[in-house]
Amino acid sequence: MSNYAKPLPDLTDPLTAPFWQGTREGKLLVQKCGQCGYLRWPPGPCCPQCLTPGSEWTPVSAAGVLYSYAEYHRALAPAFKDDVPYSVGLIELDEGPRMYGTLVGLARTEDVGRRVHAVFDPVTPEVTLVKWELS
Ligand code: ZN
Repeated sequence: MSNYAKPLPDLTDPLTAPFWQGTREGKLLVQKCGQCGYLRWPPGPCCPQCLTPGSEWTPVSAAGVLYSYAEYHRALAPAFKDDVPYSVGLIELDEGPRMYGTLVGLARTEDVGRRVHAVFDPVTPEVTLVKWELS
């Protein structure tokens, strides 16, 4: 058993299980529409562009730019109280989709628009979380 005491994703959710399988393998996956090829995040049951149900999962480059961020000074859950202050970024992937994620270190205003890359953090044997670091 791991000593990791923070909330973890539900690995049995069929909508997101492929994403977490990917992070365990050090890959960042997003859904791709089998009909029109649109890449989407967050995962959903159908394509927001052409409404085709279903999807396939495809790896993306795990890099992009910091589109925006927020700095947390109050923990939203007690498990995070020792982490404040921390920054959560909105990352625009090179392939287009935008994804939220915890940043490594605190962001500064001038970091918006800078390159970032994913860091894979295996917090338990089953769960690898993704953080983002300035490149
Ligand atoms: Zn589509």
